[in-house]
Amino acid sequence: MSANKYSMDSEYLQDVFNKKIESHGGRLDIRNEPNEVQLLYSKFYDLFKSRIASVVDKDNPSQHIVSYIDFIDNRKLNAVAFLHKNTGMIGIYKGLHKKLFEIFKSAIQEKNSLNNSESPINLDIPKEYQKTLYITLWEIAIDFIVNHEIIHISNGHIGWLKNIKGLELYFENKVYSKDMALTLQSLEMDADLNSIGKSIKKAEFIYNDCQKHPEKFPKQVREIYSSFKKTAICQIFAIFIAFHIFEDFTVNVKNFSMRTHPPLQVRQLIFLKLFIGYLKSAKEEGMNIDFDIFNITTEVAKEAQRVYDLITGKGFLGWDIHKKIYQNHVDILDKHLNDLRDEIKPYTKNWRDKLY
Ligand SMILES: [Zn+2]
Repeated sequence: MSANKYSMDSEYLQDVFNKKIESHGGRLDIRNEPNEVQLLYSKFYDLFKSRIASVVDKDNPSQHIVSYIDFIDNRKLNAVAFLHKNTGMIGIYKGLHKKLFEIFKSAIQEKNSLNNSESPINLDIPKEYQKTLYITLWEIAIDFIVNHEIIHISNGHIGWLKNIKGLELYFENKVYSKDMALTLQSLEMDADLNSIGKSIKKAEFIYNDCQKHPEKFPKQVREIYSSFKKTAICQIFAIFIAFHIFEDFTVNVKNFSMRTHPPLQVRQLIFLKLFIGYLKSAKEEGMNIDFDIFNITTEVAKEAQRVYDLITGKGFLGWDIHKKIYQNHVDILDKHLNDLRDEIKPYTKNWRDKLY
């Protein structure tokens, strides 16, 4: 395959993408978007390109696992992954992108989130740096979603769903059939677990880079990554807000809801366990972590929920009360995922672990 034909700028791939998702709004032509947001879209195309560059098949380095990521001209909150021949393609709905932007902007600017001097999770970011902060949070969230979609492709979910279940396009936010719920939620958990890992590694990379090569970063970004505590708070906050977008509060272990994703509380629990585990092992390996890991992590989770509820008018459900139920749900998904592994394995690809 020629590099040109399979670059994101290639008209060939733009056309393939557009045709596949035509009935869902088609490819977003950013030239039709207001001037002030065109710059932000360009920023994301750069982020997508860097992601694609890193998604290379370990066994076959000339092949990209995902060759194309783009926006879809649709105001709904959704994302989609699919295969064109052996090439992975990912679509992010314009509505998802926009909604996340509005939430982060409102959280930081209007709700004064992460900026309360009384709170243990106060980032203490000067007012003139606020815009950089909400754009950074927004980037972390979109990057997390893109990583999650990449994992769906590289871990064989999309190939398996296409070949065995006849599913051409896999949408994040959709009600599939009831008998698919357990399977899809297990795959979703797999995608979450792996993309959380990628996000944590990237955060650690940027944090270290900021300390070693401060000249590479604008002063506003340096401020956000000035301590590992701030770095961790931004990660948790941004990803928790992204979780809320596909939230499903129907927690019922016996009768799985028909939604694609595990209940919000289950995703939150998985995330916190993984993140806390990561911070603990980083501390053991000598990383300077001088904060109460459990307290800070759960405080950020609560703050993300509080602010989201405040902005969207939803009610707080107190996810921390029912941990046992959620853990039971996690165990069921985990077992099912293990049962599926052999069947999905032929469709997996090794993702070279490179961040840029
Ligand atoms: Zn997913």
